[in-house]
Amino acid sequence: MPRPIEALIHQPALAHNIRRVRACAPDAQVFAIVKANAYGHGIEHVYEAMRGADGFALLDLDEAQRVRSLGWRGPILLLEGCFETRDLELCSRLKLWHAVHHEQQIDWLAMHKTHEPHRVFLKLNSGMNRLGFTPTAFRAAWTRLNALPQVDEITLMTHFSDADGPRGIAHQMAVFKEATEDLPGERSLSNSAAVLRHAQEASVRADWLRPGIMAYGSAPDFPEHDIHHWDLQPTMTLRSKVLAVQPLRAGESVGYGSTFVADREMRIGTVACGYADGYPRHAGHGSPVLVSGQRTTTVGRVSMDMLAVDLSALPQAGVGSEVTLWGQGPNGSVLPIDEVARAAGTIGYELMCALARRVPVHVETLG
Ligand SMILES: *Cc1c(COP(=O)(O)O)cnc(C)c1O
Repeated sequence: MPRPIEALIHQPALAHNIRRVRACAPDAQVFAIVKANAYGHGIEHVYEAMRGADGFALLDLDEAQRVRSLGWRGPILLLEGCFETRDLELCSRLKLWHAVHHEQQIDWLAMHKTHEPHRVFLKLNSGMNRLGFTPTAFRAAWTRLNALPQVDEITLMTHFSDADGPRGIAHQMAVFKEATEDLPGERSLSNSAAVLRHAQEASVRADWLRPGIMAYGSAPDFPEHDIHHWDLQPTMTLRSKVLAVQPLRAGESVGYGSTFVADREMRIGTVACGYADGYPRHAGHGSPVLVSGQRTTTVGRVSMDMLAVDLSALPQAGVGSEVTLWGQGPNGSVLPIDEVARAAGTIGYELMCALARRVPVHVETLG
């Protein structure tokens, strides 16, 4: 018997979440963002559920090749564009769209020999200061690209730093509008938080949306809003089983460092899941967890292969009881990944991306 831990990827939930994107912006085109191996889910595991999108976006050339070899003939966008000049050959061969965010990428294009002009996404740095041309350099970059025979359409693109929070997107929208005002071409602005929180405004939902995390059933603005508020469903479940039960007397401790000491009699369940599976060690004592679909908490430190949960209020639970670390539990129970992430001082993105290779993955396919 292998260890009882496994991850489930829920294709019906992925499809539901993509429908939620459509509902927020029915007139827009949607990229399914599958960077970082589909946010840790596995590109091959999500593909069937996400091929209802209008395109795929990612940043690793190997991942682009994997999407093509799954049979996708539609748009694939490289969000960071080319890293070196020879990447353009792959773009030509696989018909990849690519971001252009610095001058050298234009130099490479100008020297590139191709019969098929490329569609490019010219990126404006509207304030995040990560990638993109400054507002003053943007127009000259557009003019240069527009004159190249290697370039077909130019889409205008930017990325928001604060769509999930109080600062919002108004300051970046103002920069974008001013820099792009009379330039032709489609626009691509919105990540998940902008789709959910700001897409009432038509210019925000134009023309190509880039929603990542909401498709994977995590709320970008948790804890202000959770997945129930946004009607999103968890797409990744990490589950395991109780492999031992320990009775505790008051004064006894649990785990490395004896950081937790019981102040009363307790029943502790030892679960086959640890930080080597991708469960965050930083999620200290008291993190939420489901046992047989019922909510309880972790106890003491997370070890490499095991963690402890409090079974004191769950007398039916014992060896073999199902433990949901995050995602969908039995009988319709749900433990949003965002709650576990918060207990670990991080965000759902990091936990899903960090699912360890040793965890077997199973796929719940579309009905
Ligand atoms: C990752 C990424 C997105 C998706 O962001 P989410 O917060 O996951 O919706 C959109 N655009 C760019 C450029 C990205 O790198």
